[in-house]
Amino acid sequence: MSDRYQSLAHNPIGKFLVKNLGLPNPPYLERWEEGAPLVNGTVLIGAAKGSVLGKKLADTLKASRIVTAAKNVEGDKYKGLVFDATGIGNAADLVAITKFFTPVLRSLRVCGRVVVIGTLPEATTTDGSSIAQRALEGFVRSLAKEVGRGSSANLVYVGKGAEESLGSTLEFLLSPKSAYVSGQVVRLGATHLVAADKVTDPAKPLAGKVALVTGASRGLGAAMARTLHRDGATIVGLDVPQLGADLTKLTEELGGGSITVDITGKDAPQRIAKYLKDNYQGVDIVVHNAGITRDKRLMNMKRENWSLVVDISVGAPQRITAELLKQGLIHKGGRVIGVSSIAGIAGNNGQTNYGTAKAGVIGFVNDLSKRAAADGISVNAVAPGFIETDMVKTIPLGIREAGRRMNSMSQGGLPIDVAEAIAWYANPGSSAVSGNTVRVCGQSLLGA
Ligand code: NAD
Repeated sequence: MSDRYQSLAHNPIGKFLVKNLGLPNPPYLERWEEGAPLVNGTVLIGAAKGSVLGKKLADTLKASRIVTAAKNVEGDKYKGLVFDATGIGNAADLVAITKFFTPVLRSLRVCGRVVVIGTLPEATTTDGSSIAQRALEGFVRSLAKEVGRGSSANLVYVGKGAEESLGSTLEFLLSPKSAYVSGQVVRLGATHLVAADKVTDPAKPLAGKVALVTGASRGLGAAMARTLHRDGATIVGLDVPQLGADLTKLTEELGGGSITVDITGKDAPQRIAKYLKDNYQGVDIVVHNAGITRDKRLMNMKRENWSLVVDISVGAPQRITAELLKQGLIHKGGRVIGVSSIAGIAGNNGQTNYGTAKAGVIGFVNDLSKRAAADGISVNAVAPGFIETDMVKTIPLGIREAGRRMNSMSQGGLPIDVAEAIAWYANPGSSAVSGNTVRVCGQSLLGA
């Protein structure tokens, strides 16, 4: 859907009204285009005393071909600010944040990026550091609301042993690929990198990988399929038989395979497993994207609409994943990715079934990420906010407009924004990213 208010707010009369009436002013967000540099400008790096990353941080960014500066030069502008806060050991040391950021925030360019790196609070050795590290969340979420002009701020917690695995996450959070991700916390646990996880061609990080995307014929699923294909993966799209023609059109264009099946069907897990085994000897990336809404307040809820919504989003993905794992079809270094929603975090009036289903997706990720780690499989979810797809066209105008504006970007996201987050999880360099549910919601006011 197009955002007519955004276009109006950028014409001369609209600009005047927006400024004088204090109306929302949605900036045009930069999005990454194939062939463009990941970060179009310099990233300034700073660190709190005693931080552990040191030179490793600059080397990681250099390996990603990101230009860095270690010292602020008056008059210079920065596309990104990265602060290593891993050394902050008590509340008083938190002042290091303002020492670094306050003098340079005015030098952050439009659609700039702020990334703070901390130590996982539960992995710290003293109470003081655990508390101070936890405090970073409040800082980042608040700064994310202050930066404006399409800029974002996010926090990355690094566990012991994961310091070498920051590359793909920084590439995502510092580039326009994370245009609609702000105020988020990403956790990198102990890494279980395997040899196959090394990226050989940065332009095609998923070369040689097979990706299954459910609900791929349209909306977010189609964007995910296209984006994973852009990154080199062979796509297997899945959708209901009624959308078979649309699905085939897409997968033929991408040169991949397709499965037409209702994922709630009794034999769906076996059929999917057989198709992947017979045609691809297994799968590397499984994206459980299919989902529906059947909104009604609980007092009017039909039993079948409760069960269908919950089964499509959480029951079927559980059964399909279990079957693929049982048959050993998810390769080592594999990825299982769920699609939750901010409704699963914050809840939503008229969506008790959907909120339950989407919170269940988070439970699925938390549970499976622990069990699958031994096989080198990482498990994460995205929780989209208001994304411009067919799904949101049916929302009444007033509620739709509120959903679109009530976030730090004052606009809805695009399917590509969710797809880029999926591609980051799928990246072979993201093995240490597991058990996360990252919101792609422009820091929506709904929920945490
Ligand atoms: P969409 O309706 O455009 O696409 C959903 C796809 O899932 C469709 O192609 C549909 O046919 C498929 N599907 C539904 N039931 C199925 C079944 N039983 N078996 C196989 N395929 C099935 O919706 P979308 O907006 O692209 O949403 C994609 C996912 O993102 C969903 O899980 C949705 O809940 C979630 N989400 C969307 C938004 C948003 O703003 N659009 C926000 C939060 C979460």
